[in-house]
Amino acid sequence: MAGDNTTAELLAEHAALLSSHASTLAAGSARSLVESLMASTDTDLLDFHQHAAAVLKLAEAAVVAVSGEVARRSESGLPDSLARRSGEKSAAALLAARSGLHETDTSLHCSLGLALSPREGLTGEVLPTFFPVLADAVSAGSLTARQSRTVLTALLKIEPQATAHELSGAERFLVEGAADWSAKTLQDVCRMLPDRFDPDGVAPRESAIRARRGIRKRVLDDGTVQYVINTDAEGGAYLDAALDARTAPRRQVRFQSVIEGDDEVPLIDPARADERSWSQKRHDALIELVRDSLRHDDGEIGGVDTTAVIHVPLETLTTGTGTAWFEGIEVPVSAQTAQRVVSCADVVGYIFDGQMQPLQLGATSRFFTTAQRRAMAARDGGCVWPGCESPPRWCDAAHIEPWVKSRRTDIDNGVLLCHFHHRRYDEDGWLLHLEDGVPWFTPPSHVDARRTPRRGGKTPSYRG
Ligand SMILES: [Zn+2]
Repeated sequence: MAGDNTTAELLAEHAALLSSHASTLAAGSARSLVESLMASTDTDLLDFHQHAAAVLKLAEAAVVAVSGEVARRSESGLPDSLARRSGEKSAAALLAARSGLHETDTSLHCSLGLALSPREGLTGEVLPTFFPVLADAVSAGSLTARQSRTVLTALLKIEPQATAHELSGAERFLVEGAADWSAKTLQDVCRMLPDRFDPDGVAPRESAIRARRGIRKRVLDDGTVQYVINTDAEGGAYLDAALDARTAPRRQVRFQSVIEGDDEVPLIDPARADERSWSQKRHDALIELVRDSLRHDDGEIGGVDTTAVIHVPLETLTTGTGTAWFEGIEVPVSAQTAQRVVSCADVVGYIFDGQMQPLQLGATSRFFTTAQRRAMAARDGGCVWPGCESPPRWCDAAHIEPWVKSRRTDIDNGVLLCHFHHRRYDEDGWLLHLEDGVPWFTPPSHVDARRTPRRGGKTPSYRG
């Protein structure tokens, strides 16, 4: 199968090469391989990896060949199946039990070996394999079992529609490509190829994907609430568009130097630095979208008052110690989180005393009224954090001095902050005061040792 040399001969050759490289690296001393490698040059290190990988691929080719034969002798139609005689349910189970390899691997080896081995005719004559180019590449160790499976799966998909000539053309194209392409490219090509032979198959496949759509939620041991979303291309496109709109570069940090008073604000102002990862930004954008929609639901969407509910013991709220929890989410949240969200208009705070009795704490006075929010939107024009461009409808009306301390909910004690900066303000130790309606932010000393106040808010020209 493998041209002039058999897989076993090639394997022996490469194993000998690997062994001689190991001796060269060891330079006569009794060092372990790892010790030799630690002392080797970068070139020798990468060279050694190449030799070891070649042995690995050839050893895999040998495993595929033998697994194919074990699978052939274990086929369920046979009266005396090898697997059954050995007390195992399948060839893959038998090989996993004997070798200690995982059954997903032995199962791959068996199906690949079976598909690529020569066929037996009706009268016992040996016929060539269906996929000779792929079989040769595997036995020469130029493709891994995983790559071969990807290629084989694509070929089996197009087989019913393609002519023999087209099929062998596709086989050559994929096998030659697989040697050069990344695993991702190979997968992409193999996924798209069947559509060229079966344009009518796209629609059924699309509806199968749509049928599998869903959102699964689970709580991990550490309290992470994990959502896995399965959606189709269209759903993915809407989701991406919505998230991209809120994470677009113009909303990111702008690096600039500004003269303010006598002080030059450094090129990268820590106040403007946004260290969130791309994934974190997309997450925050999704939560903003959802909160935005809750805020605009006057009860008509669900027919009931749909909003997040937080349960908070009064003591947690007043002392800043202890925990609270969101309805339906069985994970405690900190007192700081409870204090921050309990004054958000889109969260209902269910506050109770030591006897679990609900308390009326003049709930209305905790929230800014719609009129107050409008006045603040007109005054602030959006998130007032230095450099942030979030518009008013993505913002919380945030208390400058926490409501639990001040019991004041008037617009002199409030500014608009987006959710991200609201949290940063409440948790990172920034101070904020208004001067003639202009917000000034004083950073904590771990951000700026001199604690130079930054001007926040929008300039009039921005709003005009
Ligand atoms: Zn902001």
